[in-house]
Order: sequence, then C-alpha cells, then structure tokens
Amino acid sequence: MVERVDAAVRQRKEFNYKDIWLSKSGVHAYNQCPFRFYHQVVLGTPFVKSIEMFQGNIAHDLIFEVYDNIDREKIDSSSDLRREYWDFFAKRLDDIRKEDAQLGNNLGILLNKFITVEEQRWGMRNLKYPNRFWPKKKEMFLEDDEIKYYGTLDRLDKWRKGKYILLDYKTGKYREYNLSKMRNEMFGYKHLVEANGIVKGEVTHWGQIFLGGVDTAIQPQVISEPFKSATEKAFYKKLEKTRKGIKFRFFPKKHTPLCDWCSYVKECMLEAEDKWKEPE
Ligand code: SF4
Repeated sequence: MVERVDAAVRQRKEFNYKDIWLSKSGVHAYNQCPFRFYHQVVLGTPFVKSIEMFQGNIAHDLIFEVYDNIDREKIDSSSDLRREYWDFFAKRLDDIRKEDAQLGNNLGILLNKFITVEEQRWGMRNLKYPNRFWPKKKEMFLEDDEIKYYGTLDRLDKWRKGKYILLDYKTGKYREYNLSKMRNEMFGYKHLVEANGIVKGEVTHWGQIFLGGVDTAIQPQVISEPFKSATEKAFYKKLEKTRKGIKFRFFPKKHTPLCDWCSYVKECMLEAEDKWKEPE
C-alpha cells in the first residue's frame, strides 16, 4: 500500500478543554455523534481510514500540486490544458501504480474527472482577465483566535474586482441533504479568510466541486451559490452550542445509520448508555 504523504498544511490542533479549538470536521463530528467525537478528537483513539478517504486525500494533494508543476504559458486551449495536467498526473500515477495498481487506477479516474471540470471552466473563463482562471490561494491553513476556529481551505478564486469565491473539492457524489452542512462549512472558511485579511474585498460566493467517485458513469457536479445571512447566524450559533457541549463534557451516543461505518463500534458497545449528563 502506498504511504500517503501528509501535506504539512493539513494540520490538526491538539485538543484541550481550556481552549477548545474547533474545525469544520470537529463541529460536524460532534453534531453527528458526540461519543464518536470524544474518541476521535478528545482521546485521539486511532481510527481506520476508509479507502475512499485515503484516495480522496491523495487526489486532493495531486490536484493542488498540479498548479505548481505545469507551464501555464503553454496553455492556450482546453486540449493544451488536458495535455499539461495529464503529463504531470501520469508521472505521479505511474509511481503509485508500481505499489498499488488499484489505487493508481482509481486516482486516474478521479483526476480525469477533475481535468474535465477544469476544461469546462477554461471554456467559460473571463477572457478580459485570463489570470483569474488560476487559484488566488490554494491549500491554505487558517485560524482565528477570537472564535477558536481553524481550517484548511482548498481554493480561493477572484471572480470580479473585490469579489471572491471559495471552492472546495470533494471526490465523492453530491447529496442534496448535505446542503445546509456544506453552507455551514463554507461560511467557516469565509470567516477565516476575512478574519485573516487574506483578500482585499469580500468573499461573496462558495462552490463545491464533486468529482462523483470512481464510477465513470457519474459525471462531476459543481454546486455554487452566494453566502446568505441566515448561514452566518447558523454558523456562529452551531459553533457556540458545540463548544458548550464539549466544555460540559457531554458526549452521548447518537445512534444513526452511520453507525454501520463507525470506527468506534467496539468502544461504543463497552460504554454505558447513560454515562453522560446533558449540560443545564
Ligand atoms: S457506533 Fe454510532 S453511536 Fe456509537 S460512537 Fe459510533 S456513531 Fe456514535
């Protein structure tokens, strides 16, 4: 199995009850199942990374590396773009396939879909400002001491003077029922970008690019919309409520169909059901 090269920017903060730092995945994990959060984040109990997570992490790394490893001057059409991107990916995939052929093939499908999305974007780029095609920022670790929140944004693009869009890559499929979670996560990035003064202007939109997994019959899908004020209120409220639950050490089990994929089933079965008391 190929060892995943952990990008230095994909950082984690050590958990402590004095300063409860949260990321989008921490907030999500707590709200999905506080007991799982307790093991994953508070205790740091090792968990089994699914094949999809593993593949997704490598695909992310390669997607961001490509921008620094191509000759942008050589790209004048979408077929140039495909050739330049693929030249870089093919070399990396050859190395991966030598150790794990299946992983290499799956990554090949995901990266091919990524190139398709980029080709479409190339066709629609603003010809007056061709450089806006390229990411303004990519894979950037950000934190805000004020609200004790951190995260690594995938990509930030300028789309108009003083206006920016935040983009996130997902290797899986788009699921409509996750829309409010997506809005909440993306608002967290907007907060971090603006709190850190990363751009002169406003982050007005967000987008998520779903590659649709390794099934070649599923086309990539792009979801995008402007940020809404209701999301802003919901984000800060959820963050406060999550932190309060953790502060009071409230980690009950939340049984859902997702339990079938949980890495902490063993710990969960050994734990008394009524151990945790809800905060006043
Ligand atoms: S098995 Fe279900 S209830 Fe138990 S920790 Fe995992 S997600 Fe929570």
